[in-house]
Amino acid sequence: MKVVLINPYEIGRQPFGLAEPAAWLTRAGCEVQCLDLALQRLEPEVLRDARLVAIYVAMHTATRIALAAIPRIRALAPQAHLCVYGLYAPMNEKLLRELGVHTVFGGEVEPALVLLVERLRTGAGRAQTEPVVNLSKIEFLTPDRSALPPLQRYAHLQLPDGGRKTVGFAEGSRGCKHLCRHCPVVPVYYGMFRVVPVEVVLADVRQQVAAGAQHISFGDPDFLNGPSHARRLVQAVHAEFPDLSYDATIKIQHLIDHAELLPVLKASGCLFITAAVESVDDRVLALLAKNHTNADFARAVALTRAAGIALAPTFVAFTPWTTLAGYIALLARLLELDLVESVPPIQLAIRLLIPQGSLLLELPELLPHIGAFDPALLGYPWKNPDARVDRLQHAVQELVGQPETQHLSRGEVFARIWRLAHEAMGMETPVLADRGRGAPIPRLSEPWYCCAEPTDQQLQSY
Ligand code: SF4
Repeated sequence: MKVVLINPYEIGRQPFGLAEPAAWLTRAGCEVQCLDLALQRLEPEVLRDARLVAIYVAMHTATRIALAAIPRIRALAPQAHLCVYGLYAPMNEKLLRELGVHTVFGGEVEPALVLLVERLRTGAGRAQTEPVVNLSKIEFLTPDRSALPPLQRYAHLQLPDGGRKTVGFAEGSRGCKHLCRHCPVVPVYYGMFRVVPVEVVLADVRQQVAAGAQHISFGDPDFLNGPSHARRLVQAVHAEFPDLSYDATIKIQHLIDHAELLPVLKASGCLFITAAVESVDDRVLALLAKNHTNADFARAVALTRAAGIALAPTFVAFTPWTTLAGYIALLARLLELDLVESVPPIQLAIRLLIPQGSLLLELPELLPHIGAFDPALLGYPWKNPDARVDRLQHAVQELVGQPETQHLSRGEVFARIWRLAHEAMGMETPVLADRGRGAPIPRLSEPWYCCAEPTDQQLQSY
């Protein structure tokens, strides 16, 4: 049986979310083809004769692109059973089924995909019989990356000295044990996480190193959900590949609670850590249930610096509770902590996304601000009570999206955002001293963000 797995978007990484199902489906006797719409076009011959087309939606941007592509996929492969799987599939189940999607999976999806193939083989009908969300433990296989474009076509690592490295992408765990209210992991995993055995990750790293990877980007929602697992993993990888570097995503609370692990990460090749700081306003952090404070942010910066690891903070800069003064306080905090060069400008434009199933919907504090679910946005629209804040968000978003902005340094873009924010307040813009920018840090050539508006180019990429 021919199966086509499609990845709409995965922030420039070769997706584990295709490679792991590919291994399971190949073992089940399927002929698996992969299509990465970030790099490849939706050519009719790829879909010809496909019995199953399964689209992977791990993030908001990917889901928006998938929704735009589904009508064309259905037209090109009317014979195929259409499945959508990944974090954003269960929460958008109704919408997907209205678009003609037959089967929807979230969580640990691989066994369900194999059951679906059996259902199609035996002609047992199109109606979904498998559970939409599976959280039971599965036996991970070494991901099969043979049908994906080569690593050299994906995002690369840019080093401050101008050097670059080919990047591989691995996952040491899925899900998360935390319950941050705005997080899309929560409506599927509800505080549960599953580890990928060290030997499976090691085999995956090994095959990516053989394919040219010089750096591994770990895509776990939080790398320290299982600190002992993380320690074993990085030590095993480093023992076999001492020159390989890596990055990971770790929450502020874990950086503080497991500070003793930071030297272990450094010694095993960790170049930088992405941390979802989200806000420097303790009230907003409490509403998001982040379990850290503005003071913790500074503590995590100090701890990672002391360990010699760069910190790349990410933010939800605009929420219904953001004030102009609060936004300027965020910019000032970055200056104070010498982090301007560590923050991709897009992070200063991110607007809170409220998808179906979000725990934010339980917050009484949100109700005055939101409208009805908008299928085109894949979320609940909201307005800030101060219209100047929404206007500033649009202005910053426009600025960071302009082609000419891409040629500016982070410091130069920051200076423009600094001016926009003060103009929005009707204030004179304070002169920015040179201090506060900090040194450039290693970064991926595609910045980390999963919940921004897809560009027109992305929406037409298929
Ligand atoms: S720690 Fe990160 S991955 Fe886990 S629930 Fe919070 S935001 Fe989501």
